[in-house]
Amino acid sequence: MTAQLIDGTALARAIRDEVARRLLAPPLRGIKPGLAVILVGDDAASQVYVRNKIKACHEAGLFSRFDKFDATLTEAELLARIEALNADPRVHGILVQMPLPRHIDARRVISTIAVHKDVDGFSVHSAGELASGLSGFRPCTPAGCMKLIESTGLNLRGKHAVVVGRSNTVGKPMAFLLLQADATVTICHSQTPDLGLHTRLADVLVVAVGRQDTVRADMVKRGAVVIDVGMNRNPAGKLCGDVDFAGVAKVASAITPVPGGVGPMTIAMLLVNTVQAAERSLQ
Ligand code: NAP
Repeated sequence: MTAQLIDGTALARAIRDEVARRLLAPPLRGIKPGLAVILVGDDAASQVYVRNKIKACHEAGLFSRFDKFDATLTEAELLARIEALNADPRVHGILVQMPLPRHIDARRVISTIAVHKDVDGFSVHSAGELASGLSGFRPCTPAGCMKLIESTGLNLRGKHAVVVGRSNTVGKPMAFLLLQADATVTICHSQTPDLGLHTRLADVLVVAVGRQDTVRADMVKRGAVVIDVGMNRNPAGKLCGDVDFAGVAKVASAITPVPGGVGPMTIAMLLVNTVQAAERSLQ
């Protein structure tokens, strides 16, 4: 079997075009949804992520504002900036790029963002809404993974989904989204003995670990749908995922590439959440 390539770049483009169309129709016609992006420090990867997010906002017709601070910024100063953005009616969504410098408590920062502007979906409030099956902002990467799975035509009801990784930003929300879609869900992590024992049972396998070649062909069931969230650099400096793409593509029915899979979808879903925040502000 040679797997179908799940093209995240193309799907993200379609979602971004849809976002642009939503801005031209009621209820948003004439209102520019606004996203505020805050970056603290000089982390090279974060600078690239932030640049891409702002570029995507402009291309889709959203308003964005960017605050770049030195790593010496105090926590109190950052919280004050967020409070000001909470009160700014032009700003519908606030994103603080992680990681933050060590002297700043990321939890406190996230919980200072107004609940109705938490477009990253990282707050305890948003996590509680997701876990309780209530509507609210879904974290962008898992939400994008769900769209990628949907695009294969697979109906998740009754399927066995295995998530490798249990971070608050990817693995856990991913598991809840799959559960909501009526999949039977297993979550694996660093303390799971014999990872392959679980992954081989998966109809849908989502891997979010941050280590190259965590999942190889002999760990995947024939015909599985495989979503690779990982973003790593191989020894040659090339971007790669957590899944041995060449090997697994021979076994899976569909697979996301890295790059060009989950990454573009994360940004597209951020735009969707920001538009949703703006629509809600009108209600
Ligand atoms: P994270 O917070 O470091 O979490 C990694 C998870 O993997 C943890 O739950 C850890 O288990 C688990 N893990 C580590 N080694 C393992 C092993 N050998 N077997 C099974 N599980 C193992 O990372 P993250 O933020 O979730 O991100 C994961 C990857 O996705 C990274 O490469 C990141 O760059 C990428 N990512 C990509 C996007 C995108 O838009 N494409 C977005 C977000 C993240 P423990 O909990 O037991 O430590």
